[in-house]
Amino acid sequence: MTIEARPTAMRTHVCGSLGVDNVGETVSVCGWVAKRREHGEHLAFVDLRDHTGLLQCVVEGSVDVRSEYVLRITGTVAERPSGTVNPNLVTGAIEIVNCEVEVLSVAEPPPFPLDDRAAEVDETIRLKYRYLDLRREQMQRHLRARAAMNSAIRSAMDAQGFVEVETPMLIASTPEGARDFVVPSRLHPGSFYALPQSPQLFKQLCMIGGVDRYYQIARCMRDEDLRADRQFEFSQLDAEMSFASQEDVLEVITKAVADATMAVRGAEIGEIPRMSWREAMNRYGSDKPDIRFDMELTELTEVFASTGFKAFGAESIKGICHKGASENTSRNKLDDLTDSAKRWGAKGLVWMRASEGDDGEVELNSPIAKFLSPDELSGIVAALGVEPGDVCYLVADQWNRTCHVLGLLRLALGRPATHEGGLQFLWVIDFPLFESVDEVTGKPVPAHHPFTMPHPEDVGLLAGEPSEMLNVRSQAYDLVLNGWELGSGSVRIHKGDVQQQIFNLLGISSAEAAEKFGFLLDAFRYGAPPHAGFAFGMDRLVALLLGEDNIREVIAFPKTQSGADPLTEAPTGIDQDHLEDLGLRLLPKTT
Ligand code: ASP
Repeated sequence: MTIEARPTAMRTHVCGSLGVDNVGETVSVCGWVAKRREHGEHLAFVDLRDHTGLLQCVVEGSVDVRSEYVLRITGTVAERPSGTVNPNLVTGAIEIVNCEVEVLSVAEPPPFPLDDRAAEVDETIRLKYRYLDLRREQMQRHLRARAAMNSAIRSAMDAQGFVEVETPMLIASTPEGARDFVVPSRLHPGSFYALPQSPQLFKQLCMIGGVDRYYQIARCMRDEDLRADRQFEFSQLDAEMSFASQEDVLEVITKAVADATMAVRGAEIGEIPRMSWREAMNRYGSDKPDIRFDMELTELTEVFASTGFKAFGAESIKGICHKGASENTSRNKLDDLTDSAKRWGAKGLVWMRASEGDDGEVELNSPIAKFLSPDELSGIVAALGVEPGDVCYLVADQWNRTCHVLGLLRLALGRPATHEGGLQFLWVIDFPLFESVDEVTGKPVPAHHPFTMPHPEDVGLLAGEPSEMLNVRSQAYDLVLNGWELGSGSVRIHKGDVQQQIFNLLGISSAEAAEKFGFLLDAFRYGAPPHAGFAFGMDRLVALLLGEDNIREVIAFPKTQSGADPLTEAPTGIDQDHLEDLGLRLLPKTT
């Protein structure tokens, strides 16, 4: 890729734009001293760094330049003497000679090396000095990839007739199911704004407002525990469209992620396969299957239909087969995996090593093998396609727990590293409307949010028993990439009475619904178009496109795992006067 010169008042070129074509030209470049190497007393090689790369400058005479000093160097572009060309640098065939050096800023020695060695540095230190960390080639590349993704997504949405609308940051509350961050109001002491968990309600109001196709690269705030793939604040491509079906939304979003992938990776994603939620659970034990590898869950319930082995008298028995793993799977490892399975909720984990028996048949060796009949053993071999040298694992439990535990085990045993195995997008469709029934309240818990339209064929079940509720499908869909949930969306309820019915089922009283979402229910009374939408996490998408499993690597100024910012020291206290202005008094610390 050619880099443009980008001249300014101080420079004629950015470092990385220079090459053999410029030999003989007098140029001015600006940047930071990445490295200085002495050659005798009066000659130094200075590697000057800007956002486009490094440039070697040959500086004669005694100039005081040290690491990270900011320089303007004017000199002549020359070909490097043969044998000193550096093929790893864009500018590796040239250097700047006859240099005149102007020091624009001096610098203290940086607290850590600003190159690849920074990866070994404690992350808190990197975040405390994030402005230095950002100078590194990798961080520059990540920020620019992210900008290219944003730009590609905006273009894709614009081209499809979507209008960018900014929705407010100080709002009442949004029902995404996480805790709200709140902001006390000075003008209304005792009252609080919530920061948006998503623009969900506003985008629906935009549809009622006739916007037709809305999108926004929206900042969303959720007060939940942080992980490698989760921050308090994150960016989503948020979209909503009127008079549209699930199919329309999938098409629009596919275009956006395809263009984003092209912008960052230069790769086509092709058609995104689809899988129902039930199939995903049955085959991969997860609603966000990582389909980069097989090791699928295999149904064994039938094999044990009339078993005498008590532990297998369960609703669902499934197994996975780890090909050729026996040799490298120690007894300790098997014990560890059994402990993990129990932590994940299983009563136990059955493992079996396969070897070749005297008769040439596959023989399964396991502490529980003696409890199984020859037919059951050969049933396992046939169903899982077991060969000598394999290890297989079986779980018997309720269907959802069997799936869940084997799904996690499958990931633990076979998941490729983040940067390996290519990009496998997947639409997971036909999610259930409710994910569980709350044991205490007996009320169903929504799998997406309470504005999701039930599947038309299953609406009748809503009037039935709570246990039937879990069979109600919704018109909700997720986009998954390499086993990460990128985003979710749904066809929305656009009728006040249906919405009210769902609130009732969820145990949200009319009074509570009126208080929290009354404005939406009111709006439904004035002619709401049928509408549907989606949102996906941009931090996660760009992280995966860059092969990073930590989203902090693609965010300019992220928070640490404990939610703090070592750079600005947020969150901080506020002074007494300010508290009084806000009508707040702090309770004494209890710990
Ligand atoms: N508001 C939802 C979310 O942030 C996405 C959607 O339903 O459009 O997850």
